[in-house]
Amino acid sequence: MARYIGPVCKLCRREGMELYLKGDRCYTEKCSFKRRPRPPGQHGEQRVKFSEYGLRLREKQKVRRIYGVLERQFRNYFAEADRAKGVTGESLLALLERRLDNVVYRLGFAANRTEARQLVLHCHVQVNGRRVNIPSFLVKVGDKVSIREKSREIPRLKDSLGSTTQRTQVTWLELEKETFTGTVKTLPVREEVGLDVKEQLIVEFYSR
Ligand code: SF4
Repeated sequence: MARYIGPVCKLCRREGMELYLKGDRCYTEKCSFKRRPRPPGQHGEQRVKFSEYGLRLREKQKVRRIYGVLERQFRNYFAEADRAKGVTGESLLALLERRLDNVVYRLGFAANRTEARQLVLHCHVQVNGRRVNIPSFLVKVGDKVSIREKSREIPRLKDSLGSTTQRTQVTWLELEKETFTGTVKTLPVREEVGLDVKEQLIVEFYSR
């Protein structure tokens, strides 16, 4: 499936916030957004007043970019969240959080979601002891997500696991570092997603 492979720091600058797409660098002074907190391009310095539509579009784009999901798939997630019981915006974020690549990232096996996606695609990840190479696989309560024994020596993976960056720790996942295994204890709730986004605006965007 296609995915965005251009410069990611531009995305943060476009959205006007840190999306933490790179890993450790995002928490240092080298972060492009910290150095140039304005939209990319020749006219980036100009003040732009967003329309109502623009505000909603930007909110949707932020979330889409954080999770590395393309438009059509994101729309499908929205449709599923819309059908689910409860608050649609919160259901949407919960669905995105349950993606296997996100879980691998949250457990600390990868420095960012792109790296996590790569680990999944390259068959380094197992769910309940069985190899799963689909980044969009949705985990459920009780699932055990682990790194294949042969893959545990990958230097990037070990570095990431030992990293002390401020990556959001979530309580719905429990990590056993010794066995490279994480367990899904509960389904994610909005407070734990920890993203500075207004999901209601995304709902309004798709409800036009
Ligand atoms: Fe965004 Fe990270 Fe680049 Fe900073 S370093 S602009 S947070 S991707």
